[in-house]
Amino acid sequence: MSNENITTIHEFNFNFICDFFSNTKRQGPGSPEATLQALSFIDNLTDKSLIADIGCGTGGQTMVLAQHAPGHITGLDIFPHFIDLFNANAEKFHLQNRVQGIVRSMDNLPFQDEELDLIWSEGAIYNIGFERGLKEWRRYLKTGGYIAVSESSWFTDERPVEINDYWVSHYEEIDTIPHKVAQIQRAGYIPVATFILPENCWTEHYFAPLVRAEEIFLDKYAGNKTAEEFVEYQRHDAELYRKYKEFYGYVFYIAKKIEL
Ligand code: SAH
Repeated sequence: MSNENITTIHEFNFNFICDFFSNTKRQGPGSPEATLQALSFIDNLTDKSLIADIGCGTGGQTMVLAQHAPGHITGLDIFPHFIDLFNANAEKFHLQNRVQGIVRSMDNLPFQDEELDLIWSEGAIYNIGFERGLKEWRRYLKTGGYIAVSESSWFTDERPVEINDYWVSHYEEIDTIPHKVAQIQRAGYIPVATFILPENCWTEHYFAPLVRAEEIFLDKYAGNKTAEEFVEYQRHDAELYRKYKEFYGYVFYIAKKIEL
């Protein structure tokens, strides 16, 4: 296969993913309540604060954050269409003066060193990798600034082979909560809090809206094999969660930057 073909197929899938998730409020597990719970551990914000929401998607969680925290929020995402929807969302909530979305990759952030008071990232840091994200993003935070990220994590030291292999093949860095906390500490932060996202963050706020998005998508791309496979994959993901939810889930990690 030529490189050109690879690029085309890659872009094709990229567009599919974007199209599919444009019809959902969230692009990952979470809820307004979980966002606010994470925010409750953060005590340094003022009207002058600068906040980044990395991998913001269409901004479901960003708008909740903006309605409950002072300061200016920049949402960053690699998909231009998500950023268009994000900025439309900010206008809808009359937040456009303090909430702006920009297209940017999380491995090339546009901030100055020590500029940010808070880095937020729900269900997105896995794209750069948990440890790498913690280490690379740290320089943009002021000392005493916070990072709040949600990340898939194991709840137990042992788990059934089927779910272990599924996750390890999709995201090698999935690990137990104590290991993740140790990584946070090694990266130059004080671990302030961790909590497991309640089940409804998956079922009610993520999988349920996906069912509708799947129908719209299959209608639009009727007979398209790649589209069908993509929906199949989403459904498999939901089934595995139902079967193995005692063993894994999303965990919110809140940490504070310290001088090393
Ligand atoms: N925070 C949102 C979206 C989570 S899904 C929510 O909780 O609903 C992960 C997001 O990361 C997607 O919107 C995806 O487009 C974005 N993303 C993937 N790779 C990225 C990268 N390299 N840089 C920035 N964003 C990226």
